Formats: sequence, structure tokens, C-alpha cells
Amino acid sequence: MSDWVQELHSSIHTAEQLENHITLTPEERAGLENIEGTFNWGISPYYASLMDPDDPSCPVRRQVVPRIEEMHDELGVWDPLKEEDHSPVENLIHVYPDRVAFCISSICPTFCRFCLRKRMVETFGNSISEENLQEGYEYIRNTPAIRDVLLTGGDPLLMPDERIEEIVGKIHEIPHVQLVRIGSRSPCTLPSRITDELCERLARYQPFWINTHFNHPKELTPEAVAACGRIVDHGIPMGNQTVLLKGVNDSAAVLKELGERLVAARVRPYYLYQCQVLKGTAHFRVEVERGVQFMRELRGRTSGFAIPQYVLDTPYGKVPLNYQYMRKREGDHVVLETFSGKIWREPNPVCTPCKA
Ligand SMILES: *Cc1c(COP(=O)(O)O)cnc(C)c1O
Repeated sequence: MSDWVQELHSSIHTAEQLENHITLTPEERAGLENIEGTFNWGISPYYASLMDPDDPSCPVRRQVVPRIEEMHDELGVWDPLKEEDHSPVENLIHVYPDRVAFCISSICPTFCRFCLRKRMVETFGNSISEENLQEGYEYIRNTPAIRDVLLTGGDPLLMPDERIEEIVGKIHEIPHVQLVRIGSRSPCTLPSRITDELCERLARYQPFWINTHFNHPKELTPEAVAACGRIVDHGIPMGNQTVLLKGVNDSAAVLKELGERLVAARVRPYYLYQCQVLKGTAHFRVEVERGVQFMRELRGRTSGFAIPQYVLDTPYGKVPLNYQYMRKREGDHVVLETFSGKIWREPNPVCTPCKA
């Protein structure tokens, strides 16, 4: 059995096991007692080792240990993106004309408390049926507009190497598919999964991209950085998606350090997601205005490619949440605000053909 499979078999799934790692607070204990029949939970031994045993505000711990606040969310819904309405084939989400997200796995090494797909995420052992996969290939084959296929879940990388390679290969060989990518949190929550053998197999299907998911600099351990390095060394570019979470990364300083450490690990920050109005996440949500302010504090103060695009996902696609640096037109000038607040007037005459 490979190391990572062995590691998954000793994942933490009971309050008793968790108490071997941390001293539970009353909020966490009540969360664990009430979680049965609502949202799954589970933590890989590796990710559990990053939790601070004595500090309940530890950003790693907050992401994965159930808390009683999850039971108090009047606003949250199960499927805020109405993904099920946009699925021509079960588990295949088609929102944009040229690309689809295909959820090929319903398992994860570690269950994030704010998981968008928690309605479908199950315990170790479940993945997509062969019939569902075939329907997905068929839909992509019959839809020539699709040039980009994102394999997600759950975490597709929890499947056996051969199975992943088979699926990626089948999609890669569809003539109009220009690009296959995988979304996986394994580099962050189960870095032992990222073996050289897996990377070699995936690198056969270029262009191939991996987007991963780090939310806090504390997660960028030597093991995680090495896992990202193995992927990039095989010629697979990496992006990172972060979810903006209260008590985890809701400050410009944390986001700046995260972006810089990702870049140092050769991973490009891609999206910073506004936390969806998803059942059980009220205690994680940050106001959009604060998020925009964090982005404003990053711009100009760190490498441009250490800054992700802040977005809100909606049932109709992702919407950029941007600060408006372009203030107004003034005659033949456009009035801009720089990162440090200086006003700059750039000549911007209205072109003659447009006037006519
Ligand atoms: C996010 C997403 C994609 C990929 O979008 P990019 O902006 O190209 O990364 C594709 N399909 C769905 C349904 C998505 O939510």
C-alpha cells in the first residue's frame, strides 16, 4: 500500500482521535456532538499535525474542526451556485460557453468546513460511477465549444494513479479540448499524495495545469512546498485558489504573506474567493467591502503576480470584485488613482471615428 493510502486510513474521524491532537474547546466539542447527519468531517494525520493543540484560533484548526456555529446559519443554502441546475450531465457543470467543471470524485483527504461541495462530499471510498464518467465524456465530445475541462470534486487526486491517468487521457484525446486541469487540495492537506510517479503520468497530457488551495502561510510547510515543487518540476504550472475566511486569512498582512510564500513555492495565486452563502459558514463570511480593501492594500505593495483576483462566484459565473482605480473622464483625460492614492490625469482623447 502506498504511503498516502496508508496515511488516509489513519485519518481522524472521531472526537476521541481528535483529542489525541488538540484540547477541544466547548464550541468544538458541541460542534462534534451535533455534526452527525449534517456535514462530514475528517482530517488527514498530516494536516492535523499543523493544528496548534492549545490555540483554538489556530487558522488550520478553524478550517477543519467542526464548531457549533456551523449549526447557526439562517442565510446559508446547500447549493448557492445552483450547480445542479447547470448540470447537463450529473456532476458536470457547464456555466461558461467554452469550459466545464467535472466533479469526478466525492472524497477528500481533509474536509474543509466551508467546502462549496459539501453536499456531495462523502467519506473515503466513494468516487464517480463509470456510467457517469462515460456520460461526461460523451457530453464533452458532443459539445465542440468546450476547449477547457476542469476536473474537480471532491479531490480527483485521491483516485489511484492509473484511474486518474485514464480519465485525463480520455478527455485529452477529444480533439477540441485544448486544456485539461485538475483542482486538488492534496498538495496542502496530503502532500505525500504528490508522488513523482503521479506527476510523470499527468505530465504526459500537456498542456496540463493544477490549481491547488492554500488559505494560510502556516500551510506552506517544507512538505507542502516540496509537493508543489515536484509538480512544477514536471512542467505542470500551478495556480492557487484561496477562500477569504474570517479568523483564518481576513487581513491584508496574512494575504500578502500567503501570496509571497506561494510565489516562492512557484505557485501563482489565482483566485481569492468570497466565501459563498453556503449552509453552515456564517462564522466564516467577511463583508465584500473588507475584501476589496485587502486587495487595495496589496496592490503596489508586493509583486503583481503574488496578488490573486478577488471574485465572487455566482450561478452565472465568477464576478471580479475590484476597487475602482479609474475615477472619471475629464474632457480629454481619464482621471486615475494610483496605489498610494495619488491622482494621475492621463491624456485620453476621444478618437475621431468614435465621435462621429
Ligand atoms: C470556476 C469555474 C470554471 C473555471 O473558471 P476559470 O475562470 O476559467 O478558472 C469553469 N466552470 C465552472 C462551473 C466554474 O465554477
